[in-house]
Amino acid sequence: MPEKVVVITGATSGIGEVAADRLAAKGYRIVFVARDHARGEETLKHLRAIAGGVEHRVFYADLSRLSDMKRVSAEIADAEPEIDVLVNNAGALFNAREITEDGLELTFALNHMSYFVVTNLLRPCLKAGSRVVSTASNAHKSAHLDFSDLQSSRGYSGFAVYGRSKLCNILFTRELARRLEGTGVTANCLHPGFVATRFGDKSGGMLSFAIRAAKNFALTPAQGAETIVYLASSGDVAGTTGEYFYKCRPATPTREAQNDGDAKRLWEVSAAIAGLPG
Ligand code: NAD
Repeated sequence: MPEKVVVITGATSGIGEVAADRLAAKGYRIVFVARDHARGEETLKHLRAIAGGVEHRVFYADLSRLSDMKRVSAEIADAEPEIDVLVNNAGALFNAREITEDGLELTFALNHMSYFVVTNLLRPCLKAGSRVVSTASNAHKSAHLDFSDLQSSRGYSGFAVYGRSKLCNILFTRELARRLEGTGVTANCLHPGFVATRFGDKSGGMLSFAIRAAKNFALTPAQGAETIVYLASSGDVAGTTGEYFYKCRPATPTREAQNDGDAKRLWEVSAAIAGLPG
């Protein structure tokens, strides 16, 4: 089998780490984005132990910063002109509102804008048969998108803002799939289940406490990674696009997450924020 390349964000822990391991074990070459150098090198060492002789690669970026999203995408596009699978997975939940250097609310920047910018800038590397897989969440189910306050300046609740960013992941996937029609490139997203990872550990306040307690009942990262690996590699979904998956099966997101008008509008607003063509 000719070498296949997976680009994945958030592969140094949790669901993304297990997905990268599984895909490496299947023979894929893993190109991942890490924020922390020590963790990045550790993950690289680990991947090389799974599949020796394969040139797995790490690139460094803080994916909450537009300048880093753009720089790292350009570096990857330069190094990897043909990408078989792009997995947008890096994400977090923050108890308190923080503003990035770009003036964006941190959850929106990391969980939505990084998926949007990295995908758009790696688009030229995606060929017929390539796949984009984005980790969303059932947390979108209680979320509403307010286009007049995308940066959550009017009242902040960590879980609500997180849910909204995950709603953005589903709308982004729908619009991406629409724009990719006829290219042979697919775009799907997924809910991994509630999984005991580092997720929530750094959220702060009562939120971290509540998430830690709930993790006693959570899935393992290996279980959480299953749908990513399925969407990235299974022949069953080679022609499937624009869908939301849970437990390796298509699932129905909320009505709001199926609103194609919102999906188009979110795309245009995101492009304007990123300074990319709409
Ligand atoms: P995790 O905290 O273990 O992993 C998150 C990954 O994102 C890490 O590799 C981390 O380094 C990376 N990351 C965070 N901030 C970053 C930044 N600024 N720049 C670059 N990388 C950054 O959590 P996880 O549960 O494995 O989360 C992975 C994805 O799964 C997220 O998108 C999350 O929203 C989603 N998700 C998780 C759950 C769950 O129950 N754990 C449920 C639904 C969806």
